[in-house]
Amino acid sequence: MAGTPIDLRSDTVTKPTPEMRAAMARAEVGDDVFDEDPTVHLLQDRVARLLGKEAALFVPSGTMANQICIRAHTSPGDELICETTSHVYVWEAGAPAALSGVTTRIVDGDFGVLDVQQLRHLIRPASEHYTRSRLVVLENTHNRGGGRVYPLEKIQAISTWAHANGLAMHLDGARIWNAAVATEIALEDWCRPFDSVAVCFSKGLGAPIGSAVVGTKEFIAKARRIRKLFGGHMRQVGILAAGAIYALDHHVNRLADDHRHAKTLAQAIQETPGLRLEPPYVETNLVWFEVDPALASAPTIAGRLSEKGILVHPAGPTTLRACTHLDVSEEQTAYVADTLRALGRNPC
Ligand SMILES: *Cc1c(COP(=O)(O)O)cnc(C)c1O
Repeated sequence: MAGTPIDLRSDTVTKPTPEMRAAMARAEVGDDVFDEDPTVHLLQDRVARLLGKEAALFVPSGTMANQICIRAHTSPGDELICETTSHVYVWEAGAPAALSGVTTRIVDGDFGVLDVQQLRHLIRPASEHYTRSRLVVLENTHNRGGGRVYPLEKIQAISTWAHANGLAMHLDGARIWNAAVATEIALEDWCRPFDSVAVCFSKGLGAPIGSAVVGTKEFIAKARRIRKLFGGHMRQVGILAAGAIYALDHHVNRLADDHRHAKTLAQAIQETPGLRLEPPYVETNLVWFEVDPALASAPTIAGRLSEKGILVHPAGPTTLRACTHLDVSEEQTAYVADTLRALGRNPC
């Protein structure tokens, strides 16, 4: 296995395929700040329809998509509620505080998943002493939760409670495509309980850049203004939108291959002494696992795999993450599984 390493560090490492590049090269473009890019319009209309919302807005990154929505739903001094390991809280550089002046109330979940019973007592009293509870942010699939699919009935219960108490619901749906493919529950059913949804084209779908926000027409008008405020407006960006459209046409159903490959890796990890799946099951394309600290550290394991041409992400002292994606074949997956098993026989 000499040559290019098998890169499992993230599902963002994929390179655009020649066909995707050709679609991007052919794209009709215009100035999207004038709202005149026909390919961006095609993408936005398509995504709004797919996710069952009135309108969509193309934005540069998933982080910006989430943070535009947080800003749109809140005023400075408000509070948002999210799970302790959620992306908006852990991996977005403190943006709710920095960009929206919002305080974040975190709640420990079960591998990222909250139950409405944990939230019922969290609404702040309507008094000048308190922050205003304004927004709930959920993540599906849940990255740190191990690519876990959020059970739909849990989302629905949280949404009913939130809306009854005047809170808005935002979904960080960076990998909502994976949830839809893994469950055969339609995208619009996953999105119905939410007022806004952020999605990524640059993860498992394999586009080089791009995310979108969806919601009502009124919400998207507000989001557009905030996108400008955050510097996320772009010009002849139909070139990028064409990559995202190509990904929607060709790279959604194949996520099932990634999920199958991830299960193959999960099984190898389960069968390898010294390694442990955490969470103990794999539902989509993310494989989080722990190494027994008596045997080795996560960086040591990552180094040993790297010598064999396999890159994984050491996410903590004993924690590793492997992601399957478009650029990892069945054959490469089998090689990684064999290598993991061999490592278990000789860890250090
Ligand atoms: C990657 C990711 C994001 C942010 O996407 P970027 O495009 O990297 O900013 C948001 N949420 C989740 C769950 C992610 O995994």
